[in-house]
Amino acid sequence: MKAKDYDIVIIGSGVGGGAVALQLAGSDAKVLVLERGPQLPREAQNWDLEAVFCDQRYRTTETWFADGRPFRPGMFYFVGGHTKFYGTAMFRFRERDFEELVHDEGVSPAWPIRYAELEPWYGEAERLFEVHGECGIDPTDPPHSTPYSHPPVPHEPLLAKIEARLRAQGLKPFPMPSAIDFGPGGRCQRCANCDALPCKIDAKGDAEIRLIRPALAHPNVELRAGAQVERLITDERGRRIVAAEVVEGGVRRRITASLFVLSAGAINSAALLLRSANARHPRGLANSSDVVGRHYMTHNTTALMAVHPFKRNPTRFPKTLAVHDFYFGERAGDTPLGSLQLLGKIREPMLRGPLPSVPKVVRSLLAQHSVDWYAQSEDLPHPESRISVRSDGAINLHWHRTNLAAHQRWVDKCRQVLRATGYPIVLAKSFGTEVVSHQCGTVRFGDDPVTSALDPLCKAWDHDNLYVVDAGFFPSSAAVNPALTVAAQALRVGRHLRTNMKEILS
Ligand SMILES: Cc1cc2nc3c(=O)[nH]c(=O)nc-3n(C[C@H](O)[C@H](O)[C@H](O)COP(=O)(O)OP(=O)(O)OC[C@H]3O[C@@H](n4cnc5c(N)ncnc54)[C@H](O)[C@@H]3O)c2cc1C
Ligand code: SF4
Repeated sequence: MKAKDYDIVIIGSGVGGGAVALQLAGSDAKVLVLERGPQLPREAQNWDLEAVFCDQRYRTTETWFADGRPFRPGMFYFVGGHTKFYGTAMFRFRERDFEELVHDEGVSPAWPIRYAELEPWYGEAERLFEVHGECGIDPTDPPHSTPYSHPPVPHEPLLAKIEARLRAQGLKPFPMPSAIDFGPGGRCQRCANCDALPCKIDAKGDAEIRLIRPALAHPNVELRAGAQVERLITDERGRRIVAAEVVEGGVRRRITASLFVLSAGAINSAALLLRSANARHPRGLANSSDVVGRHYMTHNTTALMAVHPFKRNPTRFPKTLAVHDFYFGERAGDTPLGSLQLLGKIREPMLRGPLPSVPKVVRSLLAQHSVDWYAQSEDLPHPESRISVRSDGAINLHWHRTNLAAHQRWVDKCRQVLRATGYPIVLAKSFGTEVVSHQCGTVRFGDDPVTSALDPLCKAWDHDNLYVVDAGFFPSSAAVNPALTVAAQALRVGRHLRTNMKEILS
């Protein structure tokens, strides 16, 4: 029998794929990471707002469909995945996020693991990403067995004043946990470009810098960028994945391995499993439960600009403050509201898309005078909120919105809180279907093969050698940002693979 090309193939070089690659680095396994995108070039346009927001230089040009309507999704295909563009907010889920939680519109389901199981891996992920933060100030902070290894990024002067005004309202604002290389000897300049732009000087704690590059320092790990996996091929019984069909430089080939770790992002992983349907698995791989592609979530999110007509906001790096006093509701027994966080500084070119009919001079004034926030609340998994693949191979996204009334209540509450910080005008704009930043839930893990695609260690119930470790495994979205939770679970899975490698690869 022909030897396999690799022991382990990892598909996708984002947080999930990168964390597994790092756990396998230095082991006896021959590991290949396949990444459809190139390495993101370091160039002047990295920090050029016109290039990033108006020309959409880094956004994919592929077309997806939202119930038949074509659109260009907010997807970024590069080594390091979406963290090249992320806002560096690295939150742990709350303990109660792992349990059933009653919301206005239904119940957010329990995870097959509890917080305690993931807790050490959260600590490890915070260490690897060099997260800056302080434990115990966030009133919903779960227990940490290890403190942050870096102190919080200090507030710039205006934000320190706003923090005091939030405290004066009886709230408990806290330092946002942030993955930037800031402080003595650090490279970060605390510029205004951290959210939705890549870091030109590699100071952002993204998956390429923190996971992929250290993994590649080991000779057993190899990366092929520009290699897009189009299908997974199974053996005749359909139990094992035998090869990934890859298109690289226009050439289609099969790459064989003993084990496959899929981490192409929640939407693309689901699409890849669905596209890989065969006679044994007519509904797609890992999908005897028919959950693959379903339960798509991406949070209910609204950008809020708190504007004072006579006060300029000179802040450069605003991502230092968040408010969780109402995360689980306004009063005991209420249903959850959500998270309020500072957003990266909004500047005029960013407003051209959302406010096309507003004159440029007004957009500029708004941006100069605003403090920018992000209200986020949980959306609930619904079986008809769904990724499917059209007959031409394109992705169709049907986002069944849930829990919108709760989100509106949260936005209203945030407006009230922000006005009380001294900002009389609060403008709000919700994010729509094309913003898929917090995509999750499409390949859910669980205890029961009838209702989930993956077991609690993210192995496909239907296949002996397939794991899925991107945000697709989330059974619920919680109301905090997802990247640290993807990292923690992927580190956990990666350690499991390394510890049990002999039997897993045999
Ligand atoms: C603008 C923006 C801001 C964000 N801010 C935050 C934040 O502040 N905090 C936070 O926690 N989260 C944030 N997020 C979300 C966070 O970035 C994601 O949750 C996280 O990166 C998901 O990691 P992943 O490994 O699941 O997927 P991804 O990062 O999407 O990685 C998947 C990788 O697979 C590759 N790929 C896809 N299909 C294929 C294929 N067929 N073959 C080969 N390779 C493939 C992709 O190119 C990509 O590199 C933000 C996202 C965006 C877009
Ligand atoms: S704030 Fe720091 S990490 Fe973020 S883009 Fe600027 S220099 Fe890079």
